[in-house]
Amino acid sequence: MTSAPINQQARLAALYEVSAQLGTTLDVGELLNLVMDSIIKLTSAERGILMLVDGFGEQQFITARSLENGDIPAADLNISRSIVQRAVDNKQPILTDNAQEDARFADTQSVIGYQLRSIMCAPLLVRGQVIGAVYVDNRLMSGLFKAEDLELLVMFANQAAMAIDNARLFQETDQALRKRVDELTLFQRIDRELNQSLDLDRVLNLALDWALRLTDSDGGAVGLLEQGADTADPAYIRLRVHRSQVVTPETDRQIPLTHPVVAELLATQKTVQTYAVKAEEALDGSPAAVQLAVPIQQEGEFLGLIALESHMVTTFLKEDIEFVNRLADRAAVAIKNSRLYAEVREANEARSKFISLVTHELRLPLTSINGYTDLLLKGLAGALSDPQKEMLAVVKRNAGRMSILISDLSDLNRLESGRMKFDYTTFPAADVIREVTTDLQEALNGKQQILAVELPEEPLVVYADRTRMGQILSNLLNNAHKYTPAGGHLTVHLGRTATHARFEVIDTGIGIKPEDQTQLFQQFFRSEDPAVREQTGWGLGLAVVRLFVEEQGGEISFNSVVGEGSTFIFTLPLALPETEEA
Ligand code: ADP
Repeated sequence: MTSAPINQQARLAALYEVSAQLGTTLDVGELLNLVMDSIIKLTSAERGILMLVDGFGEQQFITARSLENGDIPAADLNISRSIVQRAVDNKQPILTDNAQEDARFADTQSVIGYQLRSIMCAPLLVRGQVIGAVYVDNRLMSGLFKAEDLELLVMFANQAAMAIDNARLFQETDQALRKRVDELTLFQRIDRELNQSLDLDRVLNLALDWALRLTDSDGGAVGLLEQGADTADPAYIRLRVHRSQVVTPETDRQIPLTHPVVAELLATQKTVQTYAVKAEEALDGSPAAVQLAVPIQQEGEFLGLIALESHMVTTFLKEDIEFVNRLADRAAVAIKNSRLYAEVREANEARSKFISLVTHELRLPLTSINGYTDLLLKGLAGALSDPQKEMLAVVKRNAGRMSILISDLSDLNRLESGRMKFDYTTFPAADVIREVTTDLQEALNGKQQILAVELPEEPLVVYADRTRMGQILSNLLNNAHKYTPAGGHLTVHLGRTATHARFEVIDTGIGIKPEDQTQLFQQFFRSEDPAVREQTGWGLGLAVVRLFVEEQGGEISFNSVVGEGSTFIFTLPLALPETEEA
């Protein structure tokens, strides 16, 4: 029985074909089957086995193919492991055409037991390292394999080794990439959660929860660096959050900076891992198998630490340590943010308190200035000369300006701190328009300005605070009056949308420059335009108006053309139609 010899050319063609295919797949399993099948076909082997050796030199079967049946179950793998071992150890291929009589293998159990005859084995070499071996055999025929077959096997083995190495590298980078992507997604989530909260305790709790969830720890704490009560007192670390499964978690525990772990952390600015942790080394004071202390720092400033401990594992994994370090970086940013926020809030509260004190204290004397000026003007303290009357009128006008400033400041302050109450009722919008325009009539007459009021046929009933609505309208009309030259036209137009009453205050005044338009609703903004500056004002009116409108569920906008005029538009919710009683 001899198999038909396959000529050299056919072998080279097959080799070429396999190598071409090897380059097209990065799936290791698929690749190995491909290599094995070609080898079996080309050498007329009965079976072929490809195995990889792991890091410990153990043989690990990856693929085993037979001529007739394709995959061979691992249990049927009766092969000569000693021949494989020899090829691996010597990094040399082996051919024996009659193993039964080959002195090298004569006493090998498998050769005798499994009646192995023709065997070839070539190591898989990558950069001089053996990563496995290809083994083919034929149990029945001796003298089957020739030197050319071994040569072919070696060439295949070289090709296969490279392809396997590539595929492995790819798989590793692929896995590394996936891990990186997973990690990025996770950190995105952590960042989002951390940054969503400006509450320091919540930030610390979140950071600790994440650290516990993703490492092999069963307890932990976050401590922050705090300064002593006065400059003479030393700084210390205060545990702000703490979880433990063995002791009652103790927060607010103070750790001196001389604590051995803290001292090392401060000196090295790096993670400190302590094994077989004694009570005096434990940051939370309770012994553990292992403890990790990771600094929380930002731009070189030490803010605190994350401590993790385990009673089960004896060491933290490198990945865990890296993870906690990255978490600490993120926590640092969130801690800084929440502290900054707390400072801003405190400053705002202080400012708000100051404004309410000042406005309150100014209001009283101003009332008396106004009152006495009125009494004097009415001649209750004796008759006044014309110049005296004129001077008192100036006093009254300026006291009026101050009143506006005080009431605007106080309104803004209460609106911003959420302390302003709105008294909602339903009332016809036209009523308030009439009241405000009547009040303004005298001032309009003084500038020969003509005011038109355009009301719809249907009476529009709004749901709003009547006084505040009056203030909105009066502020806008006052501006229209102030910033429109004598003889100009003013219009108040009332209309509606599906849900809101829509007010337009239109003037034929100086208009607003595009560069001023963006700043219009900012507090204390006034245009540099001399036509504006010659009018009195504080630049607070529109800021108050906007907050009033928005607080009541409306919107405000405007459009303006320099030299032609401006239109301010605001809306307020319409009252729901009363349900008719049956
Ligand atoms: P004030 O009128 O006290 O300056 P406001 O907050 O009411 O403050 O208005 C801010 C600025 O907006 C004004 O100084 C002015 O420059 C501009 N402005 C407001 N209303 C008009 C208007 N109808 N026409 C032109 N400019 C206006």
